[in-house]
Amino acid sequence: MIKLKRSRTQRTCYACGKDIEKGDQYGSMANVPGSSWTADSRPSEEIPRYAFQPFYGTVHMCEKCVEVKNDVL
Ligand SMILES: [Zn+2]
Repeated sequence: MIKLKRSRTQRTCYACGKDIEKGDQYGSMANVPGSSWTADSRPSEEIPRYAFQPFYGTVHMCEKCVEVKNDVL
């Protein structure tokens, strides 16, 4: 369950790419490394090494996307 907070700065929604304006509700969550594709699925010589590094960090989502995400969780 992702809790909504009021944004003090302008952010961009990680899920839909929309701007989250100052004062809008937003949710943040830890970004778990994705499994969209792996080193085995593409020729490694064409892809820079960093592409395989998992991205850890906190992402921000707009109110709508948080609602959708909470429905799934
Ligand atoms: Zn969104």
